[in-house]
This record gives sequence, C-alpha cells and structure tokens, in this order.
Amino acid sequence: MILVGHDPASAVYVRNKVRACEAAGIHSFTHRLHEKVENEELLNLITRLNADPSVHGILVQLPLPAHIDMARILETIAPSKDVDGFHLYNVGALVTGNTVFSPCTPYGVVKLLEHEGIPVEGQNVVVVGASNIVGKPMALMLMARDATVAICHAKARDLAQFTIGADILVVAAGVPGLITAPMVKKGAVVIDVGINRLEDGKIVGDVDFAGVSRRASHITPVPGGVGPMTVTMLLVNTIESAERFYAAQRTAS
Ligand code: NAP
Repeated sequence: MILVGHDPASAVYVRNKVRACEAAGIHSFTHRLHEKVENEELLNLITRLNADPSVHGILVQLPLPAHIDMARILETIAPSKDVDGFHLYNVGALVTGNTVFSPCTPYGVVKLLEHEGIPVEGQNVVVVGASNIVGKPMALMLMARDATVAICHAKARDLAQFTIGADILVVAAGVPGLITAPMVKKGAVVIDVGINRLEDGKIVGDVDFAGVSRRASHITPVPGGVGPMTVTMLLVNTIESAERFYAAQRTAS
C-alpha cells in the first residue's frame, strides 16, 4: 500500500486494510510518502514493487495530492498486480467482459447481492453516481449480469423519476440524505455506498436509512455495509493475484 500525505480518511482506510491483511494472513507493507513527494519518486517506488516477486498486489490510496499525475501513477502499476482494478488495461478488460480484477467496491456490492440470493438478471437497476471507481464499474458489472442499468449523475434531471423505478438502487454520490423514502419503490433493494462525515463527526451514507428502511426489502447500513466488503474484496483480489502468479510459475517450471 502506498499512502501519500496526511488525509485522515485515507489513513483510516489504509489502517483498516492493513488490519484485514493481518487477519487474513496476507503480509502487507505500507509506504508512507510525504504530501509534496515528486511524481518520479512515486513512479520509482511502483516500478520497484512491480519487479518484486514477493509482491502480488499494489494499491495506491486515492485521492492523491493535486500535483501528482494520477493517471500516470495508475498506469505504471503492473496490470497483474493492480488489485484495485484501476489500470486502463483492467478498465478495458472489465468493459469487454474479460475482467482481470474487479474494482473492490462494486465487487463487494455484487457479492452482497449474491450472498443474499437477490437476482440481478432482468432487474431494473439504477446506479446514482458515475465515478470511475464506483458508479461506472458498478453499472458495467451489473450489466454483465444481465440487469437493465441506468446511471444518474449530478446533472440528472429529477433524480426521483429514475430511482422510483429501481428494483435495485445503488447509491454512490457522496451526498448525505440524497435518497429519501418517497424516491424508493416499495420492496426495492437499496445499497448505500456513500460515506459522509457530518460536522458532528457522525458517519452517514447517502440514503436516509430510517425512512428508506421502511420501504426497502433489503438495505445496507453505513457504516458497516459496503465498506467492509470493499476491504474484503481487496483481499480476495490479492489472493487471486498470488494464486495466478504461483500457477504461472508452476506452468513455466
Ligand atoms: P465521486 O468521484 O465524487 O463521484 C460522485 C458521483 O456522484 C459523480 O458521478 C457525481 O456526478 C454524482 N453525484 C454527485 N452529486 C449528485 C447528486 N446530487 N445526484 C446524483 N448524482 C450525484 O465519488 P466516489 O469516489 O464515486 O464516491 C462516492 C461515495 O461513495 C462517497 O461518499 C465515497 O466516500 C463513497 N465510497 C465508499 C466506498 C466504500 O467502500 N463504501 C468506496 C469508495 C467510495 P458527476 O459525475 O456529474 O459529478
């Protein structure tokens, strides 16, 4: 793991990932770099980790400081070690149905749905949020499972007009209280990806949990819903990467 700077939320995410690795028996190293680190230093570190056969997963905690060329950083990570699934090659692989690593947050959502036995095929899914790390891969992964998917973003006109039709509603906008009960169909499955810290320090999602839980058939809490699944899928991707590495070594020998 590579952590640049002192963003408190990023530090918490990295700490949670380190603990989860320990619990699962995965050996993790955290490289903490100064917030003014130069692009070249970061690129050199990634190049070293790419070449290290004892490393099977490389994660650069986002967001990065503004002076860092994020696209270049992500493209420098070897696709075979890109356990976050953010490298352009892996994005293309996901789009074309040749997934190498599924991005961890939407992967966690898919696993939650599978675990609860919630069918996706033919369902009307609405994804609120269209970011590269959550909304877009979420939509692609559910489309690949034969859902009919609509994606809404900040400029969507009359958001409720879309959300009310959703059998499965995935919300990843980063706006506390964005989704209220009248916007949700009775019996819908509601997945709240949002993590928002209010002024009083309380962590809430994007969904009004108290109101919406009275209409939904299933709903994820924040904290404690999608967040832990994201960390879990990072471990899954890392183990998958290690298994692929050793399988390739066995084939070569
Ligand atoms: P992001 O990059 O800021 O993207 C937010 C997306 O939501 C954008 O597509 C934006 O639209 C859209 N949006 C913003 N306001 C909206 C509104 N009023 N109505 C409809 N769409 C709106 O955020 P992100 O990285 O995807 O993260 C989203 C949320 O999930 C954040 O709260 C983040 O902390 C959380 N998160 C949680 C996990 C987890 O493990 N649980 C992992 C990652 C992120 P535009 O494209 O038009 O700007």
